Amino acid sequence: MRRSLRPLEQMAFRARQITPERLAERLPVENPEDELGQLGQVFNLTLDRLEKSFERLKHFTSDASHELRTPLACIRSVGEVALQRDRATDYYRETIGSILEEASRLTRLVDILLTISRADSGEVTLQTVRLPILQPIREAADLLAVLLEEKAQCLTIAGDESTEVMGDRLILRQAFVNLLHNAMKYSPMGGKIAMRARDDGQQVVVTIQDSGPGIPAEHAEKIFDRFYRIDRARSRALGGAGLGLAITKWAIESHGGTIGVVTESSGGAIFRIELPAAIPFPPSYQTGAAEKKTVKFKG
Ligand code: ADP
Repeated sequence: MRRSLRPLEQMAFRARQITPERLAERLPVENPEDELGQLGQVFNLTLDRLEKSFERLKHFTSDASHELRTPLACIRSVGEVALQRDRATDYYRETIGSILEEASRLTRLVDILLTISRADSGEVTLQTVRLPILQPIREAADLLAVLLEEKAQCLTIAGDESTEVMGDRLILRQAFVNLLHNAMKYSPMGGKIAMRARDDGQQVVVTIQDSGPGIPAEHAEKIFDRFYRIDRARSRALGGAGLGLAITKWAIESHGGTIGVVTESSGGAIFRIELPAAIPFPPSYQTGAAEKKTVKFKG
């Protein structure tokens, strides 16, 4: 009896040693074929998942701190230099201007980090309603109209008014704002951007095509990772922290959709989103209250 319980004792002994600091430990599995061995393997697979998730969290915290440190260091050094000796009024005005610019960068970053943390902990509830896909697309374009004008870029939006999805208008709008903002940032002055939506029966397909440098194939999947940037310095200079596409991916996937990117042979990135199409109205359909669904970030 004692001999047969020995593997169980060993497993319990090892399990007691597993702590958040020692998540690499695994339970001993003597015979993977018997019931105890199978239980040990399932436990070890759970530990694998936990360890990965802890690692991701650690990276996220350290990347986030790093991102916050840069604008803070800027504010500090600009302020210190200004205080070293008496300066002209214009100099102070310029200094305050740069400090405010960095402060708004910090505010934007903290807002994005809060959104990610709320999504991570499943606090975001989708308010799903039947909506024409052109609605959040047009709203995104309106929000960015001033920037578009500043860069003298030409945006075209094509699609059918009757193309509908079941979705959360604000979350989809945020996804399109992020994609359109990128298309504008990376396209040259006077460049062309085209957004198209169509219903191919099961799916609503939205494409956003720009006239920028495109995205080399080796980066095409990684750009959706948190804090990933192809050219860190350029992205920062353009005001980015590498989080926009991670949020966009979460927004689309939480609607049961997919997102990917390809680059045209002539340059220019084409982001392609697929969302499940709303089922056609049955004749007796009554518009009801928004359906609520809580979704988590899987990033
Ligand atoms: P950022 O705030 O840096 O733009 P994103 O998550 O939105 O962060 O994008 C991640 C990276 O993907 C960007 O830093 C950039 O290198 C690349 N990228 C995104 N959109 C485009 C685009 N339309 N054209 C070229 N590169 C892009």
